[in-house]
Amino acid sequence: MNMKLLKHTTAEVTERHALVANPAKTCQPVGAMYAALGVHGCLPHSHGSQGCCSYHRTVLTRHYKEPVMAATSSFTEGSSVFGGQANLLQAIETIFTTYNPQMIAVHTTCLSETIGDDIPQIIGKATAEGKIPAGKHVIHANTPSYVGSHVIGFANMTKALVHYLAKNTGAPNGKVNLIPGWVEPSDMRELKRLAAVMGVKTITFPDTSDVVDTPMTGRFDLYPSGGTPIAELKDSGNSLGTLAFGPIASGPAAKLLDTQCKVPCQLLGLPIGLRGTDRFIDALRKLAGVCVPEAVTADRGRVVDMMADMHQYFWKKKVALVGDPDQMVALTEFLVDLDMIPVHIVTGTPGKKFVNRIAEVTSSLGRPINVKEAGDMLTLHQWIKNEPVDLILGNTYVKYIARDEDIPFLRHGFPILDRVGHGQFPTVGYQGALRLMEQILGLLMDRQDRDAAPEKFELAM
Ligand code: SF4
Repeated sequence: MNMKLLKHTTAEVTERHALVANPAKTCQPVGAMYAALGVHGCLPHSHGSQGCCSYHRTVLTRHYKEPVMAATSSFTEGSSVFGGQANLLQAIETIFTTYNPQMIAVHTTCLSETIGDDIPQIIGKATAEGKIPAGKHVIHANTPSYVGSHVIGFANMTKALVHYLAKNTGAPNGKVNLIPGWVEPSDMRELKRLAAVMGVKTITFPDTSDVVDTPMTGRFDLYPSGGTPIAELKDSGNSLGTLAFGPIASGPAAKLLDTQCKVPCQLLGLPIGLRGTDRFIDALRKLAGVCVPEAVTADRGRVVDMMADMHQYFWKKKVALVGDPDQMVALTEFLVDLDMIPVHIVTGTPGKKFVNRIAEVTSSLGRPINVKEAGDMLTLHQWIKNEPVDLILGNTYVKYIARDEDIPFLRHGFPILDRVGHGQFPTVGYQGALRLMEQILGLLMDRQDRDAAPEKFELAM
């Protein structure tokens, strides 16, 4: 990305099929690695070249500001020609001997997918040769990066957790499975907190809280205290039901729990904003047979209060958004509830359902909007040139467009490489809705103050 190149971005939008410029996604294994980190004692393993693993770790480390541990099959020219079986068998033996994880979560890469390595067969061979110690696990997900995106990789690994581990033993546990989707560790913590306040016992997976947001203790733990225990993953097959947040990231795992273990599932949107959180609280209430405590109702009331108090500042402000599909749908719905106008919406993840869902949540606007799946940021930039906006939401890479067009910019999504806070403060739930409104208002007010004529420069809002 180069500011000079951006200066040459034209307003003329040309339909492109064979060229992506400044993609709005990253590769599948990044998501698989993030999902695997959400299991306690799990070491993610990248079956491919060292360069792939290095990239996946780097982008996660930069976003979470925590060291991300993972192993690699370290493909060389020989593995590229003859396949990676020998490397993976050796890796499994070395990892259990040297690093002693509870589980190895193998994800494939472009190279091993192109070769056609049969990972279940290799895991079977490792088992037969006694390379997997008793009580330990090796699971896998296919994550070819020439299709899908990091979100699909996350979904594939989350589904693999169910496929390999979840069992219905016929002993109901009275718990509710929460599959949070690709959200921040702060979001996962907030979902668990809300469920606990409601008095509902949950199994949350994957759960990266206390894994990629660990406190400084002066001691390095290769396997931090967080992450879903493997025993809970096995027990998820005995739960009352599953609430899956984000049909793209969490849907496949939830549906498999239903068919594999007969645990009924509900596919909800991410609990972002007022209506998104209402749906979560209501579904949890009904599933667990509990009442909504006063503390949660009061939190909701504070969201409604801020929405009403600040409505004049949100009203009719135009917004451009780019990011992951589940996030985009939930955020768009919230912006519409705030009486803002999301006019340009792009996701890099392919999927026609995304376009339909955006059409549904924006139908009340009564005006056409630009929406694209498998899109890129060049398209978004060109749309903005044709119809300017008051605010842009997106990951760190959007900062170039925001600067070029001089538009307030809210960092949201993955990756965020140049700020902190995303991993510490939730954007889900009622608390998250307050934070999102506070962030949006801050940006709009700063712009208002910057541009105000001296006689209009107000002390109070
Ligand atoms: S080669 Fe494929 S798996 Fe490896 S970093 Fe590139 S896109 Fe990702």
